[in-house]
Amino acid sequence: MSSSDAIIREIRINPIVPSESVLVSTARGMRPREAEAPAPRDNRKHVQRCPFCRGNEHMTPPTVASAPPGEDWRVRVVENLYPVLGDNSTSSNLVFGLQQAIDGYGRHEVIIDHPEHGIALQEMSEEHLIGLLGMYRERIHALYQADARIQYVLVFKNFGPAAGASIAHTHSQVIAMPVVPENVANEVLHSRQYYAKNRQCIFCSLIDEALTFEATIYDRESGSVRRQISVGQYVIERGRHFVAIKPFASRYEWEVHILPLRHQADFIDIDDEQRADLARVLKRAMARLDAVIGGAQYNFFLHSLPHNRDVADCEASYHWHLEICPRTSIPTGFELGSGLFVSTISPEEAAAQLRAVALD
Ligand SMILES: [Zn+2]
Ligand SMILES: [Zn+2]
Ligand SMILES: [Zn+2]
Repeated sequence: MSSSDAIIREIRINPIVPSESVLVSTARGMRPREAEAPAPRDNRKHVQRCPFCRGNEHMTPPTVASAPPGEDWRVRVVENLYPVLGDNSTSSNLVFGLQQAIDGYGRHEVIIDHPEHGIALQEMSEEHLIGLLGMYRERIHALYQADARIQYVLVFKNFGPAAGASIAHTHSQVIAMPVVPENVANEVLHSRQYYAKNRQCIFCSLIDEALTFEATIYDRESGSVRRQISVGQYVIERGRHFVAIKPFASRYEWEVHILPLRHQADFIDIDDEQRADLARVLKRAMARLDAVIGGAQYNFFLHSLPHNRDVADCEASYHWHLEICPRTSIPTGFELGSGLFVSTISPEEAAAQLRAVALD
C-alpha cells in the first residue's frame, strides 16, 4: 500500500509553537470545512476607476516611496487611506483591572506591487519581484528608523476576496506597530527555548530534517510499513539560498513556507544575491500553488526578528521566513472553537502534488 492511499488520522503538533496543532484527517467523511469558491480572476491590465492603476495617482494619498521615482514607477508605496493604526493618537496606555490597552500608535502603508491591475505574483518577472522585495526591505528599515517606539513591522499580502483583499489591484501592506504580534512573539519565545536546550536554531534543524531525513516507521504489531519518510519529502522548491517547504504540521492545507538556507534572523539582512534567489523561489512556489489549486487566493506574511530590546539575544535562535497561506476553505466552528485546524490532505501528499508541477 502506498502512503497516499493510507488514511491518516492524527493530531500533529507544530514543532516551533507546540500550542498550535493541526488535525490531519484524510478519511473521506472528514469534511468539516466548506470549500472556498474560486474567485473569478480579474486579469485586466488597466481599470479606469482603480486608484492603484498607473495614471490614477491623484486618487490615492500621496506617494511615500516609489521605484523608480516618477510616473514610470514599477512599485509604489502610499499611506493607507483607512489605517488600522495612526500616528496622531494622544490617548495614553490604559490599564484598568484586567482590561489593558496600548495606544494604537503606528504606521500603515500600502505597497502597490505592480502597475498592472490584475497581474498575479507568479506572472511578474523575476526582475520585478527583486524590486518588490527590495521595497519591502526598504520600508521595513525606514519605519524602524523613523520611530524608536516601533517594535515590529509586519509586511503582508492579501490576494483574493477570501483572503480579505478589499481592492482587487495587486498590493501588499506594511504595518509598523508598537507591540510584537503574538504569532511572532510565540515563535521567538519557543525558538529561544529550543536554542537554550539544543544550541541550535530550530528552523535550521527543520530545514536539515526536510532536506536529509529518511525513515520508515513500522507498525509495532503487524510489522507493516506505517509511514515512509523520504528525502526531501517536504521540499517543494529549492534554490541556491532559499528553500520552500510544506510544513509537517500546518494550519492551511496548502501552506508553504520559504526560508533562507543559511541561518539569518532578520529579513533586512538579505543581500542582493539572496534577494534574486528569493524572487525566483517565490515565483516558482506561487506558480506551483496556482497550478495545483487554480486561481489561488492567499495571504502571505513575513516573520522576522522584532526590533526591540527583549529579543536582543535571539539573533542565533530565530530565523526569518515567509509564510504563504492559500485560502481554499472557510474555517468552521470546530476550528474556531477548538483552535485545532483540520487538514483533509496530508502535508506529504500536498507537497508531492506541488513538486510534481512541471515548470520551465
Ligand atoms: Zn488597478
Ligand atoms: Zn536558523
Ligand atoms: Zn512564522
